[in-house]
Formats: sequence, structure tokens, C-alpha cells
Amino acid sequence: MSDAILQDPQDPQDPQDLQDLQARAARLDAEDPLAKHRERFTLPEGVVYLDGNSLGALPAGVPGAVADVVHRQWGELLIRSWDESGWWTAPERIGDRIAPLIGAAPGQVTVGDSTSVNLFKALVGAARLAAPGRTRMLVDATTFPTDGYIAASAARMTGLDLVPVDPSEAAAAMDDRTAVVLLNHVDYRTGRLHDLPALTGAAHAAGALIVWDLCHTAGALPVGLDAHAVDLAVGCTYKYLNGGPGSPAYIYVAERHQGAFDSPLPGWNSHAEPFAMTPEYAPAQGAARARVGTPDILSMLALESALDAWEDVDIEAVRAKSLALTDFFLECVAAYVPAGAVEVVTPLEHARRGSQVSLRTDGARAVMTELISRGIVGDFRAPDVLRFGFTPLYVGFADAERAARTLGHIFG
Ligand SMILES: *Cc1c(COP(=O)(O)O)cnc(C)c1O
Repeated sequence: MSDAILQDPQDPQDPQDLQDLQARAARLDAEDPLAKHRERFTLPEGVVYLDGNSLGALPAGVPGAVADVVHRQWGELLIRSWDESGWWTAPERIGDRIAPLIGAAPGQVTVGDSTSVNLFKALVGAARLAAPGRTRMLVDATTFPTDGYIAASAARMTGLDLVPVDPSEAAAAMDDRTAVVLLNHVDYRTGRLHDLPALTGAAHAAGALIVWDLCHTAGALPVGLDAHAVDLAVGCTYKYLNGGPGSPAYIYVAERHQGAFDSPLPGWNSHAEPFAMTPEYAPAQGAARARVGTPDILSMLALESALDAWEDVDIEAVRAKSLALTDFFLECVAAYVPAGAVEVVTPLEHARRGSQVSLRTDGARAVMTELISRGIVGDFRAPDVLRFGFTPLYVGFADAERAARTLGHIFG
């Protein structure tokens, strides 16, 4: 972890800095090719929203799309909609819309259930695919808690020993005892980005399978699942993909594993012939094998509409703007916040930075409450971290400047 303490001993609100940074922000916004996409979202007036890494903003078309699903598809067409409105095939259809954002060819991503449930399917499925005789499941020791809880249960069920490791030591810990490795692409607390190509390569060199949790990367930066031969991956859709509160998650099962993927939750939706209603289970081919039960249509179709915000968006351009935004925010924090008041816990190196900036400070909870009351919405993570998520489709450089300036006022 890069723990750079900001120690630029400047006057926190030097009027010259203020003018320079505000002018730069205006210029950067004017030159930003993604700035026009902000119109694709409905955001409250006067609010700088830096919590899209927790709950994405509302895409403008979603209210109308949901009203159509409720009134016409459900209210008028009733049961016909399973077929006529494409409800039955929604999990794979929407999976194929997420696929390009995570570098997956069609036919490998299914949408449904929560990230927690998909982690369970992926981990048990991976353990069942692993070479015989392997005894360990490695899991990121710093992980978002649900991943650790689910991994512990999945390991217990499949007879593996759970071995928590710091991601910086994960590659060294992989050996011929390792069956499965579970890592987060970006650490939710610090915003640190892990080296997916190298760690995937290390897992494969050890003969293990790897499961990546993409909750904090899908929609923020290119992932390259196919290019790096990832085995399985999961992620949620209500963060950078803006699917709405509790929108269904997704699971990626690489095509080469689909034939042998043995889901621990083989519900009737994953059956080769669900409507044959046979007592014997026969798994579907392809991505549908990761389905479980009846899909959650209202929130799934809200997500489908939300994905319209990605029309004609190049994820490489999103990454470039995300890095420019977080660089600029860090620069503004250094100029406006008194030296020593906050400590940057997000790596400064681009190759190790996700799309958020985390600042450690005393009294972080109270600082965030004050920021929110002044219209800057980020969040707090225990015990002492302020998190600011940068979502390039609707956050601009002037927003970053105002957020840092407001933070400076609170410490000033
Ligand atoms: C947000 C997040 C989750 C959320 O899981 P749910 O099942 O949707 O509650 C899981 N893992 C990570 C790493 C996350 O960031």
C-alpha cells in the first residue's frame, strides 16, 4: 500500500491556487470527450456525487423503461411477457451487454442473483473443476467481508482449507496445493488495483483456477477477462454499471469451463429443458448453466435500460478520464487541505489505482457527514477512511475541484 502523506506546506486556500485550479477544471471539462454523457443521468441539482462506486446514479431512461415493464409488459401482456417481452432470455441477453465492458466474448456472462450468491456458485464450481488432490482455497485477506464469509463456507463444503493471504503475497502463496484463488480486482477500501494478468498467470502456472471479483472495476476500467484467460468472475451491477439498488449481479464462466461447470445451485432455470419438468437434472449448455431460479425481472430490466448509458462509450476512454480525475482531485486535495490533515491511502501509481481515492483521517465519519451536508457525497469506511468514487460518465473536473475545496474548508 502506498501511504503518501501530503505535506505540501501551503496556505490551504491560497487565492492563486484557487483561481488556477478552477480555471484548469473548467478547461479540462471543456476538453472532455465524455462530458456530454452526463446528460444520460438524472442527478440532483447542486450535488457532487462521488459515491457511484457504492450506488451508481440514475440513468435518465430507467424510470420510463420500468414504467413500461410494469404497466404494459406485466399489466397488459401478463404471462405472455416471459416470451413476448423476452423475460425468459433476459439473464443471457443482459449478460452479453455487460460482456464487452469486461472483455468477454458473448455467451459467457449470466445476470441474476446477488454478488454473494454468484461468489458461492463460482467458488464451489471452481473447486469442483480443480485438479484432484489439491487442498487449499486462497482468499484475499483484505477482502470485502461477504467474499471472505462465502469463501469460508465454500471451502468447508468442498473440503478445502481456507488460506487468507494479502494480495501482495498471493502469487508467492500459490503452489501445487492450491485449488482455487479468489481475489478482488480493486480493494474496496483503499482503491488499490491488483495485477489481474500477472496474478491470473501465477494461478495458472501453479495449476490452480482463479475467480476474480470485479465489483469495483466493471464500468470503471477495462478488465480483459478473455484476453487474460480468467477462469471465473463475478461482479455487481449497482456500482459503476448504475443498475439501481439491489440490481442483479453477474457471473462469468469462461467458455472452456462451461461443459464441466457443476453449479452448487442447480435450479430449474439452469436445466437443459426447464419446461420438460423432469425429476432428473441435466444442465443447460452455455452461460445459462449458471442460472438458478426465476429471474428478478423488475430489477433486471431496470439494469438493461441502465446499460443504454454505455452506448458508444469506449471503456479505454473511461479509464483515461478516471485517472485524470483522480490525479486532479489528489492535486486539489494537496493544494487545499492543510498538510498532514489527511493521508492518501490509494496508490499514486496509475497501474495500481482503481477509480476511487481513499483518504485516511481522524474523525472520518464526522468529516464525511459534514461533507454530505455541504453537497459533496462520498462515503465513510470504518475505521477512518473517506472514500471518493469517480464515475467518468457523470463526474467532471469542476466536481473534483469543488469536493477538494469543501474538504479543505472543513479542515481550515
Ligand atoms: C459491493 C461488493 C459486494 C456486494 O455483494 P452483494 O452480494 O451485492 O451484497 C461484494 N463484494 C465486493 C468486493 C463488493 O465490493
